[in-house]
Amino acid sequence: MAGGLAANGDGTPSKTAPTPSPLRSSKYTTTKMRVLITGGAGFIGSHLVDRLMEEGTNEVIVADNFFSGSKENLKRWMGHPNFELIRHDVTEPLLVECDQIYHLACPASPIFYKYNPVKTIKTNVMGTLNMLGLAKRVGARILLTSTSEVYGDPLQHPQTEEYWGNVNPIGVRSCYDEGKRVAETLMFDYHRQHGVEIRIARIFNTYGPRMNIDDGRVVSNFIAQALRGEVMTVQAPGTQTRSFCYVSDMVDGLIRLMRGDNTGPINIGNPGEFTMLELANAVKELIEPSTKYTIVENTPDDPRQRKPDITKATKLLGWSPTISLREGLPLMAEDFAQRLGVELRKPAAV
Ligand code: NAD
Ligand code: UDP
Ligand code: UDP
Repeated sequence: MAGGLAANGDGTPSKTAPTPSPLRSSKYTTTKMRVLITGGAGFIGSHLVDRLMEEGTNEVIVADNFFSGSKENLKRWMGHPNFELIRHDVTEPLLVECDQIYHLACPASPIFYKYNPVKTIKTNVMGTLNMLGLAKRVGARILLTSTSEVYGDPLQHPQTEEYWGNVNPIGVRSCYDEGKRVAETLMFDYHRQHGVEIRIARIFNTYGPRMNIDDGRVVSNFIAQALRGEVMTVQAPGTQTRSFCYVSDMVDGLIRLMRGDNTGPINIGNPGEFTMLELANAVKELIEPSTKYTIVENTPDDPRQRKPDITKATKLLGWSPTISLREGLPLMAEDFAQRLGVELRKPAAV
C-alpha cells in the first residue's frame, strides 16, 4: 500500500485506519530506548545485550570489529526487529542516533591486548574520543568500562576509587592500563567541557559462560585445561591474588550505574579474594579432581594483589555481587564442556 495509508475499496483513504508517520522508526518518535553497545559481540557485551533485549523496552545496536568477539555470541538476536549489528572499528568515526552508549570495545585479555599494543591504545584513546564525540552530538549518556588495571600493581589494598594507582607507563601492559586511564580522562574532560553525561565503571576480573576458550585469562585457562585433561598453568609465584565477579552480577552493576545519578568512577567487582593456587585448587575440587597444576613463568608487571572496595557500589547503586566463585565456576564449566564437546565428570551443581 503506497505511503502506508489504508484505503477504502474505492481508493479513497479510510477515515478509521491509522496513518503511520514516516518518522515512526526514528529515534525521535519511538518509545523504546535506543542503546548502542560497542564491543557488544564480546564476553561481557553479549551478556549485556541479552539483558537489555530481554527487557523488551530497548532497541540495541552493537558496533564491533570482531577482534576478540564473535557473531556467535549474538546469534539468538539476529533478525530481531529491535536488534542491529554493525561491523565497525571504533577508532573510526561512527554516525548513529541513540540515547545511551555502553562503550566496551577493547580487548580485555592480556594475550589479545598485547598482540597489537598500538591498536589497543588507539582503541582506548581514539575509540573513546569518537564515542564521546558521538555522545556529545546526539546528547546520549555514555558509560565506559574501565578496569581495575588503572590501579596497576596497587600499593593500597583493597582498592578504593580514590586511589590513583601504581602504573608502569612504559611496560607491556601499559597500552591497556594507560589507555584506560586516558579514556577516563577524556570522559571527565567531555563532561566538564561539553556537559556530556558520563558513567565510569572500574571492572574487576569477570568470568562466566561465553568467555573465549583460548583467550589466556586465568579462569578460562584453568577450566579449559581441567576439561581437556591438561595440566593447569599457575604463573609464578601463584600467591598473587585476584577477585572474580560472575558475569550476570557484572551486567547488573553496569545497568544500575548507567541508570543511576553518579558519574563514578565506581568499582564493580566481587571482593572475594583468591590466590591463583587457591583458584587452581577450587577448579580441581569442583570440576575435575584428577587435574594437576604446574608453576610456569609469569609475564612482566603482573599485579601482585587485587580486591575491590565496593562501598560506593553498595551505597550509591544498591549493588553487591550475589554469585560466589564456588557457585560460578561450575556454571562456567557447563558452558565450556558443551563448547569443547566433553562430558563434565562431576555434577555441575555445587
Ligand atoms: P572481550 O574481548 O570479550 O570483548 C571486547 C569486544 O570489543 C570484542 O567483541 C572485540 O571484538 C571488541 N573490540 C575490540 N577492539 C575493537 C575496536 N577497535 N572496535 C570495535 N570493537 C572492538 O572482553 P570483555 O571481557 O567482554 O571486556 C569488555 C570490556 O570490559 C572491555 O572494555 C574491558 O576492558 C572491560 N573489562 C573487562 C574485564 C574482564 O575481566 N572481563 C575486566 C576489566 C575491564
Ligand atoms: N564523532 C563520531 N560520531 C559523531 C560525532 C563525532 O564518531 O556522531 C567523532 C569525530 O569524528 C571526532 C570525535 O568524535 O573524531 C570527537 O568529536 P568532537 O565533535 O568532540 O570533536 P572534533 O570533531 O571537533 O574533533
Ligand atoms: N595466570 C595464571 N595462569 C594462567 C593465566 C594467568 O596463573 O594460565 C595468572 C596471571 O599471572 C595473573 C592472574 O592469573 O596473576 C590473572 O590473569 P588474567 O590474565 O586472567 O587477568 P589480569 O588480571 O592479569 O588482567
